[in-house]
Amino acid sequence: RTLQAPSSDRATPTIFEHEFSLADRVALVTGANRGIGLEMAMAIAEAGARAVYCLDLPKQPGDEFTKVQAYVQKMKGKRGEGRLEYLSADVTDQEAMWKVGESIGSREGRMDVCVAAAGILKGDMSCLDYPAERFREVLAVNVDGVLFTAQAAGRQMAKFDNGGSIIMIASISGHGANQGHPWVSYNTSKSAVLQMARSMACELAPKRIRVNTISPGYINTSMTSQFLSKRPECLQMWCDYNPMGRIGRPDELRGAAVEAQHRDYRTWSSVASSCQGRHLNVD
Ligand code: NDP
Repeated sequence: RTLQAPSSDRATPTIFEHEFSLADRVALVTGANRGIGLEMAMAIAEAGARAVYCLDLPKQPGDEFTKVQAYVQKMKGKRGEGRLEYLSADVTDQEAMWKVGESIGSREGRMDVCVAAAGILKGDMSCLDYPAERFREVLAVNVDGVLFTAQAAGRQMAKFDNGGSIIMIASISGHGANQGHPWVSYNTSKSAVLQMARSMACELAPKRIRVNTISPGYINTSMTSQFLSKRPECLQMWCDYNPMGRIGRPDELRGAAVEAQHRDYRTWSSVASSCQGRHLNVD
């Protein structure tokens, strides 16, 4: 039995082309430099979006950036425009995030899709010793940052009066907690995201703006690999937690990101990672 997921096969045709088209949509995705955010940005572009604005912390172009640029080239002229644009901002800066929303709105004349995926995990200290500053840092990115991202997109969706879909990336850690994991700040933040989504969904439904969450299970990204480098024994626990006996790959969340755009009948739902059979709960 292998604990790692088999590698993805990008040559396989996707179902997005016909069934889940996002033709002509404009999207904003945060945390899109790597991991889950990057996969979701690419999935939305592949589903035909006119433009996907990928937002991350300001930085020099690195390996992942090069990967995205190569993908942009590959996508050109294939399905829709599939344009990926890069933006830098800190999601904890409300003013900067509102400006991001305004600049996309004025350039594209619409805003349809938002995925708030930027997040951090500072899972290295017991809840009994957890410093106030670090606690606030996690909540600032994982909670304030999600709110400011949703505001940035939601204000444009309301302005153009076309409706829209906001997806917040929560986690199974927002629904429960794991023995021995010093994740008090992370778990608290992800629970807050679930409730934020419910509140915003109820308030924004009359404007035809839907707010949903996706709660992935354990996914192999730099966030989890950094944690596992300090606590390698957790890998087995994570694999045992998943009925498929392994942790997930970021690309396994592509379908959820696109499908969530089409859940017209729901104003709020929680879609769990496809390989986490135990958490397929929808409120
Ligand atoms: P990664 O650490 O791989 O990526 C996190 C991304 O968020 C990076 O692109 C990072 O940017 C960006 N980011 C962090 N802080 C900020 C900030 N202040 N402003 C703007 N961007 C920021 O994480 P994952 O891909 O694993 O996680 C993505 C989301 O999914 C997170 O919300 C996470 O909590 C959630 N999640 C992850 C799971 C997992 O098992 N991996 C499981 C469940 C949920 P930069 O590259 O510049 O550092």
